[in-house]
Amino acid sequence: MSPYAWLEQSLATIHRADWYRSVQSIHGSAGATVVLDGREVINFASNDYLGLAGDERLIQAATTATQNLGTGSTGSRLLSGHRELHGELESAIASLKKTEDALVFSSGYLANLGAITACVGKRDVVFSDEYNHSSLKNGAILSGAGVIEYPHCDVEVLKSKLQEVRGNYRRCLIITDSVFSMDGDLCPLPTLLNIAEEFNCMLLVDEAHATGVLGETGAGCVEYFDCTNRQLIQVGTLSKALGSLGGYVAGSKNLIDFLRNRAPTWIYTTALSPADTAAALSGINIVKQEPQRRNQLWENINYLKKLIVNLPNLKILPSESAIVCFQVESAAEALKIGNYLKAEGIFAPAIRPPTVPTSRIRISLMATHQQNHVEKLVEVLKDFG
Ligand code: PMP
Repeated sequence: MSPYAWLEQSLATIHRADWYRSVQSIHGSAGATVVLDGREVINFASNDYLGLAGDERLIQAATTATQNLGTGSTGSRLLSGHRELHGELESAIASLKKTEDALVFSSGYLANLGAITACVGKRDVVFSDEYNHSSLKNGAILSGAGVIEYPHCDVEVLKSKLQEVRGNYRRCLIITDSVFSMDGDLCPLPTLLNIAEEFNCMLLVDEAHATGVLGETGAGCVEYFDCTNRQLIQVGTLSKALGSLGGYVAGSKNLIDFLRNRAPTWIYTTALSPADTAAALSGINIVKQEPQRRNQLWENINYLKKLIVNLPNLKILPSESAIVCFQVESAAEALKIGNYLKAEGIFAPAIRPPTVPTSRIRISLMATHQQNHVEKLVEVLKDFG
């Protein structure tokens, strides 16, 4: 038998469980509406919360950077890949986050892997929320540290486990999403910070879905909870509300200096392209200068929440962000609803195990949605019954 025969069997198992996934092609620029399978549908599947991915200013910034600096950065940051533009972007991130410094990675996934594997190792322990994003979970595994998962947002269990084992390890790192990507709820950040302080732990918070969305200036959940001056490690992505591609870590000067010397996913990979870097920089400037975009996004979120309370059959999960989910019985039902929505002109994806423990439909709101987009979504959900 071929040593690759197991692939066919494993694929068959994935199909049987209704877990099989494939890509769908979106045509043209992705905005509040997109063309999918030849039809225009309202897009509730995008992480482009502020509608910046198609903004003329980001496009112009990327185009100019490409014309001036070329398409590729041609090397890793420590060798030939560094440009002044990377430094400008890092200063802009640090200024938005009000941290001493920041470091840009090629993606948010790589930022999490790099930060976690640099900060902890074999003699250490990581405490991880069970609903954390894959990049946090895999960062913890890759680090070689002991990994203890605590039930979702359960600070009591976290505390009692820390009491039990903290003394057995050198360093301790607590890792958590700030906005949970598949639920839309928030981590209890102030309590986590207090626990971290009490047990002498570091805390890493992933602001991927919070940056540009939460907080007075759009700095994220840390700002929303008024924790800007507390010591912690902030990670995020440039690919969601900031409209570009890439990731970052923001924190103290020492942390960033250390990561530049020890984070393998930063040291041994090619620097972010000029186009992505320039687009992200433009995105951050817009977040700072145009709070009305964030306000509009929140108007849309609150409008949807107001309308869906009239749909008592939907099991809406608690949400305090631009992500609103409703839970369904099974993966097969999630697929059925997802397909029904698509046929009715709504693009809202079915999210199934193993990505999440229970299947759901995930709705992401954008500042560029119109009221009638939200109304149409609610109408279709009502008809589905
Ligand atoms: N963290 C969270 C919470 C995410 O949802 C994502 C992306 N879905 C990432 C990290 C990874 O970010 P990127 O897409 O920039 O790799």
